[in-house]
Amino acid sequence: MMKMTVSARAALLPLALVLAAHSAGAAAQTPAPPKPAATGDTVRLTLLHLNDVYQFQPTSQNRGGLSRVATLRQQALKESPNVLTLMAGDTLSPSVESSAEVEGEALKGRQMIDAWNALGVDYAVVGNHEFDFGDDVLRARLQQSRFPWLGANVMSVKSGQVFDGMKAWDVRDVGGVKVGIFGVVLPETQHSSRPGPDTRITPYCDAAKRAVDEVRAAGAQLVVALTHLAVEQDRELAKCVRVDVIIGGHDHDRVEETVAGTPIFKLDEDAVDLGQLTLDLDARTGAVKKLAWKVVPITAKVPDDAAFNAKMQPYAPLLATLAERIGRSPVALDARSAQNRLGETNLGSFLADTFREATGADVALVNGGAVRADRVLPAGTMTRRELYSLMPYRNELVMLEVTGTTLRAALENGVSLSSVDGKPPGRFPQVSGLRFTYDLRKPPGERVTRVEVRGRTLDETAVYRLATLSFIASGNDGYTMFKELPVSRGLPSPWDALAGAFSTGKPMPRAKPQGRIALRGAPRGGLRAPPTMK
Ligand SMILES: [Zn+2]
Repeated sequence: MMKMTVSARAALLPLALVLAAHSAGAAAQTPAPPKPAATGDTVRLTLLHLNDVYQFQPTSQNRGGLSRVATLRQQALKESPNVLTLMAGDTLSPSVESSAEVEGEALKGRQMIDAWNALGVDYAVVGNHEFDFGDDVLRARLQQSRFPWLGANVMSVKSGQVFDGMKAWDVRDVGGVKVGIFGVVLPETQHSSRPGPDTRITPYCDAAKRAVDEVRAAGAQLVVALTHLAVEQDRELAKCVRVDVIIGGHDHDRVEETVAGTPIFKLDEDAVDLGQLTLDLDARTGAVKKLAWKVVPITAKVPDDAAFNAKMQPYAPLLATLAERIGRSPVALDARSAQNRLGETNLGSFLADTFREATGADVALVNGGAVRADRVLPAGTMTRRELYSLMPYRNELVMLEVTGTTLRAALENGVSLSSVDGKPPGRFPQVSGLRFTYDLRKPPGERVTRVEVRGRTLDETAVYRLATLSFIASGNDGYTMFKELPVSRGLPSPWDALAGAFSTGKPMPRAKPQGRIALRGAPRGGLRAPPTMK
């Protein structure tokens, strides 16, 4: 890999000419009409790009905000009509807004499509998170979009075509140059998100080769790959297919490098910056004569766009509700995903304590996967937004009566997938009213070596009242031992129970884990969290 510097950009040019010769060859089969020579023999194309944008308003650090981006886009369009605005995937989920209900219906990314429509996007590629709500919701979002979504490797098994409502590629005339663009998404999406049984994410290199052949045959002189891949996969793509530029996403990191002569550009998440790629193209052949990439910080110095704000006004009450103060936490809360799936955390214990007290149960169990913010929340004011970010999923709080044997089986399930590597399991149990020890040297199903309920050894025949989330009680994440048991409902919602605790200080979160869960047989240095999924 080569980090691209200003001087290295010049080195790209000879290769760009080689690529252009290649493209001209394909275009020669269908002779292009003479190009308008408005700017002499050069056409300047500007690509504005963003990736992994989960909210349309600025971040808590007051960076980003699609209203500000709209201002910059309008400015660019005033200077030249040859501007394409590209979105490189991941926007429908996850976010507090996407889990929120407006008029009785969960938004599930609807607000982001409204925002992209208001901004004016030319093309978007689907990211892995576009599938988080399943195919039907995605289809509805595609229909709602006033711009094409690309997904050359997102196939319907039944039709043998790309996913209904997506395009593999498109060709657009920009200032007299035919620009071809296609999109691909990382294959891991098949399992990390929730595409339906009819949807297959196929190998991206094969799909890209096919798309490039097709856009060239359709007359494209310049080819842009709009990708949602991990950066190693973008490097692979640069080697397996010839394109002029790769604009990507997914990593949540700025990338500026050249692989096999192809420049790759990506940005951090949430539109904290806007990418601006300026391409000076030969007006006749579309060959890249000069390329310059600039990162424009999106800060409060960029004014809002009034038209954008007017279109997003219907969401103002929701944003106001999310900003509401519900109470405070005297300590920082560990809401990191991996930590909540690998062992006891102060937040996991606080959630379980809150649910146990709100229901009057003997014990409580919360799956680590229910904790979502994936960061440490600082001590101090707690807003509704922070509460929802901790637990974005709509769950009920339920209580069921379980025997000691069933409780032990539940704990065994909770630690059955805990291992030294791989993905920290969402089923890991955060607990209240009990303590337990597990031994990773033993096989799954025999790992729990000691359980105490309120200071006494677990009685296998006793009946305990257990508070948990409806997700677990209905048998998900391997908790099938609960599936057939009757549950008490009509309890406060998990959100109401937590809001109550934050406003009254009862129960109170502790600064550190309390030693409720002990681990034997851990590798030297303890269990390690892999890098989180984007
Ligand atoms: Zn992603």
